[in-house]
Amino acid sequence: DELISQIAAGEVVERPASVVRELVDNALDAGASQIQLKLMAGGVRAIVVEDDGLGIPLEELPLALKRHATSKIRTLDELESVATMGFRGEALAAIASVAEMALLSRCEGASHAHRLDARSGEIAPAARARGTSVEVRELFFNTPARRKFLKTDATELAHCLEAVRRHALARPDVGFTVWHEGKLLEQWRAASSEQRLKDVLGEDFIADSRAVFSEAGPLRCYGRAGLPEAARSRADMQYVYVNGRFVRDKLIAHGIRSAYEDVLHGQRQPSYVLFIEIAPDRVDVNVHPTKIEVRFRDGRELHQRVRYAVQDALAQSRS
Ligand code: ADP
Ligand code: MG
Repeated sequence: DELISQIAAGEVVERPASVVRELVDNALDAGASQIQLKLMAGGVRAIVVEDDGLGIPLEELPLALKRHATSKIRTLDELESVATMGFRGEALAAIASVAEMALLSRCEGASHAHRLDARSGEIAPAARARGTSVEVRELFFNTPARRKFLKTDATELAHCLEAVRRHALARPDVGFTVWHEGKLLEQWRAASSEQRLKDVLGEDFIADSRAVFSEAGPLRCYGRAGLPEAARSRADMQYVYVNGRFVRDKLIAHGIRSAYEDVLHGQRQPSYVLFIEIAPDRVDVNVHPTKIEVRFRDGRELHQRVRYAVQDALAQSRS
């Protein structure tokens, strides 16, 4: 079982940033309004994610680490309705199989918190306000081959920050704080979406981009598209969300790219943040643990809409 968990972990946990993605996901699922990350050595030594969400009841603490244990599906109906959310109950078990892990949690109304040590299974009383802290230390300590594949701390840290950015752009209503080696790296207070974009991507991105908005029936597409003259040599500022989830999708990327085809030449990459809201029955979500792949029922139509929405935004800037 240990081995099976480690193999499964290979799918979910590629590097520290994968842990960050999953833990922040859980904090958001728990209704957190503040999420704090504390990293050491690019996340390899330690990733601690603290939230002020609902907490985990004492009797459910050990369950949280079991494979396929999720508190988020209670009925078969729910299983269908959360089909868009990804693999269920895999993340914590996978992480616990390749790192030292502890869960510290306190629910509303509980007199104190409890701390579960994943390795020993011991539960001890602990102190903290309502919410959950997940501590992950020494990632891949028991799988040295995988640890060897990690890049420098600086590179791993950059990936961790990118994982937080992806969540933070989608959830401006949640405050995020990131520390590395005891130094405050980022602090994004709960804000409007516009302000969050500024905070996360910089004032320049707002100045050098135009608002995108298009609505037709159940399809809404909005965000910001960078001006062609501000295009960069790297594709590092391209964010697409489908119904609130970050996705990498060739069709959408191509639609956006087509909007730039007459104005952007060579290898230059446009920056954009695009939120697509679409009726859930128009999209099949074929979820892989690490990357969410989507298939749209009306792909061509969506492609066109995205393209024209971005084209409109860019055209306005020239009139
Ligand atoms: P999933 O998120 O798919 O349910 P995970 O392995 O990520 O699976 O988490 C297992 C369970 O642990 C969750 O279903 C939830 O009950 C609990 N859990 C994990 N993180 C938190 C958190 N930050 N706050 C509250 N509960 C949590
Ligand atoms: Mg999860």
